[in-house]
This record gives sequence, structure tokens and C-alpha cells, in this order.
Amino acid sequence: MRTLQEGVATPKDFGVPIIGVQEGSTMDLDLRLEGVHEGILVSGTVSVEVTGECARCLDPLAYDLEVNVQELFSYGEPSNNGAAVGEEEEEQRWIEHDAIDLEPVLRDAVVTALPFQPVCREDCQGLCSECGIHLVDEPGHHHEVLDPRWAALQGLTGKDSQITN
Ligand SMILES: [Zn+2]
Ligand SMILES: [Zn+2]
Repeated sequence: MRTLQEGVATPKDFGVPIIGVQEGSTMDLDLRLEGVHEGILVSGTVSVEVTGECARCLDPLAYDLEVNVQELFSYGEPSNNGAAVGEEEEEQRWIEHDAIDLEPVLRDAVVTALPFQPVCREDCQGLCSECGIHLVDEPGHHHEVLDPRWAALQGLTGKDSQITN
């Protein structure tokens, strides 16, 4: 059994467009590599800093994420020798040339742990579609009354003109 504890630079594409791990930022690995009958079992955790933006208000957000990893790398070569494709299409990992490629395993673990709709805070209500302020900061915010700044403009343009939202 071997342990792998080190910080590595995060490769590309650890994330989706709205949220993910910055390429080159440190990814802390705390893994155990265990020789088992079928191959090598990798288990442990990977810790990263996730950055992105709120899906509702587009504010930047960042948080630490620790993900559990467990993956078996099997001996033997990938082959499709006529055997029926199993119903469970679970991706198989293989030991190739006496080496294992951890990157896709770590990427899958991290990317699947990312929120589908990241939010800066649970009760984020997004932005006002009229003026762009954070709605959560101003309960009851609405635009029914004419904004005083528009009223001033209206004075300038004469009493017949109308400005509506
Ligand atoms: Zn937000
Ligand atoms: Zn508004």
C-alpha cells in the first residue's frame, strides 16, 4: 500500500463554464493506493477551491470543496472481444503500462460534486430586471412608482412626454 499526499496544480477543465476549479490552483490529494486482487484501489479525498459565479445574481463566489474518491484500476487491457456490453455502463479504469491515470478520476469526482445551479447564498433572489440591484438587499423592491431621477428628467423634457419602464 502506498499513500499519496501532495498538492498538485489543477489541470484544465476541472469544472463547467459557470463554476469550477481554477486551472493551476492547488489541488490537495490525500489518497491511498492499495494493491487488491483485481488491480489497484485508489481511495481518499481531494480538496480544491471552487470559484465561479452565482447563477442568480452573477456575484463571484468561492468555497473549499473536499470530495471523496474511490476507484478501482483493473489489470488487463480494455477490450471489446464480443462480450455483451453490460447493462451498467460504468466506466472501467485500467492499469496501463504499469501506470494509472488519476486525472480523469479526479476530474469526474470534482465535476460531479459541483452544484448545478451555484448560488452565492441560499436565499439569493437574483437581480432586479429593471435596475440590477440585488433584490435580497431590498425586500419589497419594485418599480411601480416613478423613480425620482426619471421624474427630474420628465421635468426637463416637458410635461407632455411620458417615460415608462
Ligand atoms: Zn447571488
Ligand atoms: Zn429595481
